[in-house]
This record gives sequence, C-alpha cells and structure tokens, in this order.
Amino acid sequence: MQNIYCDVCKKRIDETITNRTFYYYPQYGICEPCKDNLEAQLKPQARNKEPFAFEWYQKLIKDTLDKGVQRGRL
Ligand SMILES: [Zn+2]
Repeated sequence: MQNIYCDVCKKRIDETITNRTFYYYPQYGICEPCKDNLEAQLKPQARNKEPFAFEWYQKLIKDTLDKGVQRGRL
C-alpha cells in the first residue's frame, strides 16, 4: 500500500478511507483535521454569500487550500 500524505500538514495518513480519513480536492488531498479547519473557514463565508454561486465557492476552496499548503496549515 502506498503512503499518502496530507498536502497541507504533510502528515502521513495511515489508513486512507476516502471521504472518511482523507479528502480529495481538484489539486490536493487533505487529512481529516485539515478538512475540519477548511470547513470552519469556508462556512462563515459561504453563509454570507448571497446569492450563492457554485463557481465562487469552488474558487474559494482552491484559494483557501493554496494558502494552507503554502503555510503548512489551514
Ligand atoms: Zn492535514
């Protein structure tokens, strides 16, 4: 079994169960704690966005992940 690492915190994911311990985004794969942090950042912004736009949200996810990968945390 190949080792998979979170793109943000670089932690190795021991048991990869997609969408339970590891989450795939277009450019990145991230672990569960990082996914929780990502959602915590996205939710307040998405809630205030009116009208909600899917493309805007996809871009927000990508921008937030780009920043997280650069900093090594979300
Ligand atoms: Zn992580």
